[in-house]
Amino acid sequence: MEFKIFNQSNFHNIPQLQSQPKEILEHIKTVGNVLPFRVNNYVLDHLIDWSNIPDDPLYQLTFPQEKMLMPADYVKMKEALTDEAATKKVANEIRNTLNPHPADQLTKNIPQLDGQFLEGIQHKYTQTVLFFPAQGQTCHSYCTFCFRWPQFIGDKSLRFASKDAKTLINYLKQHKNVTDLLITGGDPLIMKTHHLAEYLEPLIDPECNHIQNIRIGSKALSYWPHRFTTDPDADELLHLFERLVKKGKHLAIMAHYNHGRELEPLEAQNAIHRIRNTGATIRSQGPLLAHINDNPLIWSNMWRSQVKLGIIPYYMFIERDTGANHYFKLSLEKCWHIYKEASSSVSGLCKTARGPSMSTSPGKIEIQGITEILGEKVFVLRFLQARNSEWNQRPFFAKYDSHASWLSNLKPAFGEEKFFFELN
Ligand code: SF4
Repeated sequence: MEFKIFNQSNFHNIPQLQSQPKEILEHIKTVGNVLPFRVNNYVLDHLIDWSNIPDDPLYQLTFPQEKMLMPADYVKMKEALTDEAATKKVANEIRNTLNPHPADQLTKNIPQLDGQFLEGIQHKYTQTVLFFPAQGQTCHSYCTFCFRWPQFIGDKSLRFASKDAKTLINYLKQHKNVTDLLITGGDPLIMKTHHLAEYLEPLIDPECNHIQNIRIGSKALSYWPHRFTTDPDADELLHLFERLVKKGKHLAIMAHYNHGRELEPLEAQNAIHRIRNTGATIRSQGPLLAHINDNPLIWSNMWRSQVKLGIIPYYMFIERDTGANHYFKLSLEKCWHIYKEASSSVSGLCKTARGPSMSTSPGKIEIQGITEILGEKVFVLRFLQARNSEWNQRPFFAKYDSHASWLSNLKPAFGEEKFFFELN
């Protein structure tokens, strides 16, 4: 299948849009100037249900919607469209109000080697290093909710990336307490196999024996399964996976999934089988999103289908406080109820998804429940991963707040002024 991309400059050519009402095109044109937009022909032909536009979850996942901008911003952007300079200026002004770097990524997680800050590498949790290869900082299509949207808008100050495999490997060799390397993007599997091999083959060196687990974050199984089946270097990619597994590495594809429909096309299922045949594992993760998957049935069905295909449900996230967050966010209470209900209706093998979890500056915080202690209604929370390893698994409590949708909305329970991790 030929890979065809549509974006802000050529979306008028999308055949399925030709018969849609004028407003639909206007929403794409206006909002697509602020938030990145990119969709390919596989998503258009095999994932979106065009009889249900604009409500279809896969359409919501990939196409800009009017309400993804606040009403005043939408009007401002629409008025600016007649002038190129004004369009850029207004788009940038609005982007700057959308919290482009949640969780302090630019300032807190950049490691140093020999006194130099390392571009394209993050090291937040002791055991895991994240690497952002320069060739993998885009995706086969873009998700409208994605917290990585600043990387896609061409602003270099908002982009982390490195082509420097040598520095990465040197850093890993000097940090023997690191067990996991997460190659992330964008989507690293948009890279040609020979580029990916430049980063991964050196890990076979005995000096890198401490790197037991290689994870690759990707949505290629959903947005372009041909990456593993018919692309010119698909077989080479699978041979690379096989080689790493044979050398004793645990290779995990961290697959982004938002809806069970992504698992239905035969091409997607074929791709899953081919990856599993290499000995690599596939784990699934994705956030809870209004308009896309805010229903326990969607999650329980998705987890069942994943387990049937040999995928391990891994994380249910809470949507981060960035980009069009106001459009996608759900209250923490609702997230917890969806998780609880979805989890209650599936067998043990499907209950492996952790969450609902917020990826915050101090760490990954799971909502464990809502209860009453000493007459006070509280959220019960705990760190699944923490910047300070002593905080891991430590439960803590926040005052119940029916509107809270992120950690920053929560106050400590029982009259405390600060959460324990905020104390010096
Ligand atoms: S595929 Fe992943 S990284 Fe790419 S836009 Fe979607 S969520 Fe973001």
